[in-house]
Amino acid sequence: TASQAELLAEVLAEIGARAAAEADRGRVADYIPELAAIDPSQFGLSVVLADGSQHSVGDAEVPFSIQSVSKVFALAIALGRLGDRLWSRVGREPSGLAFNSILQLEHEQGIPRNPFINAGAIVVTDAALAGHAPREYLGELLRFIRAAASDDDIHINDAVARSETETGHRNFALAHYMRSHGNLENAPELTLGAYFHQCAVEMTCTQLARAGRFLMGAPGMPRMVAPGRVRRINALMLTCGHYDGSGDFAYRVGLPGKSGVGGGILVIAPGRASIAVWSPGLNAQGNSKLGTEAVETLARRMGWSVFG
Ligand code: GLU
Repeated sequence: TASQAELLAEVLAEIGARAAAEADRGRVADYIPELAAIDPSQFGLSVVLADGSQHSVGDAEVPFSIQSVSKVFALAIALGRLGDRLWSRVGREPSGLAFNSILQLEHEQGIPRNPFINAGAIVVTDAALAGHAPREYLGELLRFIRAAASDDDIHINDAVARSETETGHRNFALAHYMRSHGNLENAPELTLGAYFHQCAVEMTCTQLARAGRFLMGAPGMPRMVAPGRVRRINALMLTCGHYDGSGDFAYRVGLPGKSGVGGGILVIAPGRASIAVWSPGLNAQGNSKLGTEAVETLARRMGWSVFG
């Protein structure tokens, strides 16, 4: 409605002004060398409403590395391929541990806790490969994201993928460990090649907000997966989308979201909005500091929490 768009414009202006003035912007992730040099002063936010209109503020047209936000698209593809068989290889419980933790894997026989921690996402990508070459899977992933966003100008940054391949020892350890338990079908180099390239997809906030429309469960939005699956992907985002900060994000924002170490977050207000926010500085849990604060304000002011 007109009044909703007016309120949103007011809230976005407020959020943009506050983000520009914020001194404590968190810390840019530096374990992937190619990402360490990103300017932390940047901030962008974009919202697509159920009527299809899009509203943005700040650096919403600057491409960034979506990193772990890609795990949402990979999960949608893997569920499409395997259906519920996927859940024999990866769980659905929050881990309460850091994104790259190896701790629970030993107790749980190489079955990762959920599809959004690194170990789980590596299994999801391994499953999505399903006998295909990484190139074919990445082609399908890009087609999925481009169709979801209604935008063909979305690409993979090879330098970022290479940078992570050279330094991703922890992810190699996770993959080899799971392979030793028989929970990786492909050679670790192959699955991780696909995984690092998947993480290196670049998008702007306006593109990412549009790519999230299929998760809104609203009429007229691109239908990429069945409604029952939309509900479940959202449930996993709410409970597991922010690593060991998932409970805090649910408490503060009250919406399903998936973060990435590039500083992006995709947030869904079911039936109402698809939101993408980006600011490269991270909080202690590895989630965008300003991004989290911005969607906390947005959800509160718009009354969008799923808990009323
Ligand atoms: N490519 C990153 C990694 O596997 C993704 C982590 C993230 O975005 O949280 O380390």
